Amino acid sequence: MYPGFVDSHIHLVGYGELLSKAVASHCTTVEQFKDVIKKEATKLSGKEWLFVDLWDENQLDRLPTLSELDALYGGPMVLRRVCRHVCLTNHTGLAAIGITASNSVEDEQVGHDETGQLNGLLYENKNDLLVNEATKNVTDEQLVQYVENAIQHLTASGITGVHSEDLGYFGQYTKSLQAYKKVIGEEKPFRAHLLRNHRVFQQMMEDGASVDGKYIEFGAMKLFADGSFGGNTAWLKEAYVGTQTTGIALHTDEQFAQWLQLARKYDSGIAVHAIGDAAVDQFIRHLERVPPVAMRDRYIHGSLCSTEQMKALKKLHVIVDAQPAFLLSDMPWLQEKLGKREARLYPWKTFLNEGLVLGAGTDAPIESISPFETIWAGVTRKKPSSQVVFDASERLTRYEMVHMYTVGSAYTGNQELYRGKIQKDFDADFTIVDTDLLCCEEAAILKANVLQTVIDGKVVYDSSL
Ligand SMILES: [Zn+2]
Repeated sequence: MYPGFVDSHIHLVGYGELLSKAVASHCTTVEQFKDVIKKEATKLSGKEWLFVDLWDENQLDRLPTLSELDALYGGPMVLRRVCRHVCLTNHTGLAAIGITASNSVEDEQVGHDETGQLNGLLYENKNDLLVNEATKNVTDEQLVQYVENAIQHLTASGITGVHSEDLGYFGQYTKSLQAYKKVIGEEKPFRAHLLRNHRVFQQMMEDGASVDGKYIEFGAMKLFADGSFGGNTAWLKEAYVGTQTTGIALHTDEQFAQWLQLARKYDSGIAVHAIGDAAVDQFIRHLERVPPVAMRDRYIHGSLCSTEQMKALKKLHVIVDAQPAFLLSDMPWLQEKLGKREARLYPWKTFLNEGLVLGAGTDAPIESISPFETIWAGVTRKKPSSQVVFDASERLTRYEMVHMYTVGSAYTGNQELYRGKIQKDFDADFTIVDTDLLCCEEAAILKANVLQTVIDGKVVYDSSL
């Protein structure tokens, strides 16, 4: 029996949504990908949005062209890349957000092929614009269903709580928040620590948005500083190997300062998605100018970080939300993109050695919600099917990984005095597993099964039932 595992960075509603959508994660050829789209198209009348998630060009021989997409479905479509920072769409989709060949020539967030023609790819803010357009009419009932399904899968995977970022998607923030409130309670306990997206933060303050505080609580202001490695949109100090691009900064320094000021005005910490090293610098630069508040500031992803940056982060009392599973999804193509910078990639052990606290998460729906897969990734730094270890010096011990999922995740949400340990007067949240994760053979970590999940003293999942 372990203290309840808490996923410190996830998109719970998005994960629930994904459970109801078609995916292309198994596709290795463009023909297979097109078959998935075709199959979805047959279920629709031709007017609704068509969704396919989780494609990854690193697994495919090539991506479908814009005209191929047009031929597959006449209505609007949104095909989200596995990282969710990039998507593909057809002409109808582009038209739905007002993008034409002529008004997007200079726009680096709209994809073009070598001849300068639109290719259906959208990046970062343009990706968000399309996804928000496609999902804004989701009904309250659907959202409740997403939250219910997600929590059911999470508790069956031994997860007793999450730090989730959903308020800022699916239309008004009130819709997702209502769904949480409807599903979670004494009858169905689950710990949800909700980050507040910067786009809705001010509105939430003015509305006096409130929650019970026992099962649902609000966390730091969520801010994206940059994109992802996959789409070459993570903001780097030096260009991606073989390119001229250093990625995309999503906020100017002036804008970043304003968001931070707004957070501090309400004594809120900030939780910043910063993948590239230039984005980490921006985060540090701004935090150095303001005093800390009780609610901890969070560095989400910890993907590419130098020891110098770690020392600065430590001084600022920043915690790191780590997703060890990213490493296995990103290797080996990421090494090619970054060249010698790979030595600073996902440096979990160095973070700990520098005295930083790490919380463990999956960023689901980006990665699998399984804590065993995440523990495996952090401990071995190799794919189950391979012998190649990515930087053995950064491997964590099993104890460190379990600590991240429990004490670490509690610390990231300022809950370390009452959650994350099996101790008198602490929350009675437990994950009960059929395998001793600290002593079993390495391969057995991935085969571990959850026997029971207990939240607030109630058994919420029992494998024997
Ligand atoms: Zn995320």
